[in-house]
Amino acid sequence: MEGKIIKGIAGFYYIHAQNGLVYECKAKGIFRKDNQKPLVGDNVSFTELTREPAQGNITELHSRKNELIRPAVANVDQAVVIFAAKDPEPNYNLLDRFLIMMEAQDIPSLICINKSDLITRQEQEKIYKDYEGAGCEILFTSTKTGENIDKLYEKLKGKTSTVAGPSGVGKSSMVNCLAKNEIMETGDISSKIKRGKNTTRHTFLMALDQDTFLMDTPGFSSLSLPVMEKEQLRFHYPEFSAYEGTCRFQGCVHISEPDCSIKQAVASGEIPKLRYENYRLLFEELKQQKRY
Ligand code: GDP
Ligand code: ZN
Repeated sequence: MEGKIIKGIAGFYYIHAQNGLVYECKAKGIFRKDNQKPLVGDNVSFTELTREPAQGNITELHSRKNELIRPAVANVDQAVVIFAAKDPEPNYNLLDRFLIMMEAQDIPSLICINKSDLITRQEQEKIYKDYEGAGCEILFTSTKTGENIDKLYEKLKGKTSTVAGPSGVGKSSMVNCLAKNEIMETGDISSKIKRGKNTTRHTFLMALDQDTFLMDTPGFSSLSLPVMEKEQLRFHYPEFSAYEGTCRFQGCVHISEPDCSIKQAVASGEIPKLRYENYRLLFEELKQQKRY
């Protein structure tokens, strides 16, 4: 049989199987054979020992598409990052760090600006303008009014997504909303993992349906940049790519060089000031790190 590891606790792995059941499994033999440690998100083959209770033994780990370190999870298709439009105010520097961190791992991000009910259309437009060139989709959602929750659900469908964001942005409300959406659609809660207080500290995937999984990650208030040379940072700003090579100096890092086409594009409004200012701050941070 085939399935996906959705949780691992104390030597047991919980497999969401194609038949909709969650099997408690051991991974006998696999460790010794390939020296491989199963990860949440792994697709596996297993043998069923009993159906009631659903128990089995993992016989094979399928090859991984990718592997995140924090949180430890395999086969992530996308990262959903949630910020609030207001209350708390979005921290764009933190958002940029998140996007860079995911890009460095080749995971596409989807920006979800929640609590869209608290801002005007014009304010939404402003945020959209600032991030439309950042290389990821942007959705304005509200768990209060239901705005775009169905759209978000569509973006998740058939994929394994991590859901991250600072605390207070409505992440729990969103995850509950998405889970409920599914429960209403299918009328089936038997295979859902109950989100008890004691389970939230473990890494686990929530199955929204047979092939849609969410990983709720703990709220964060800071993020360090991935290890890179400061000269590499500019390649993580997709808005800059069209201008690459058009500055006066080859290898221009767009900070203090004269005749810099990026700075000109910022001045003329073609590149959002917000993104460029964050770039400068992060560049400076990488520069400082070098000293130690
Ligand atoms: P978390 O810390 O990110 O998990 O946030 P919660 O889901 O606990 O929500 C934090 C607060 O924001 C709660 O008071 C929610 O009622 C409120 N909230 C969540 N979503 C929305 C939304 O879309 N609009 C508004 N106005 N408030 C929201
Ligand atoms: Zn330049």
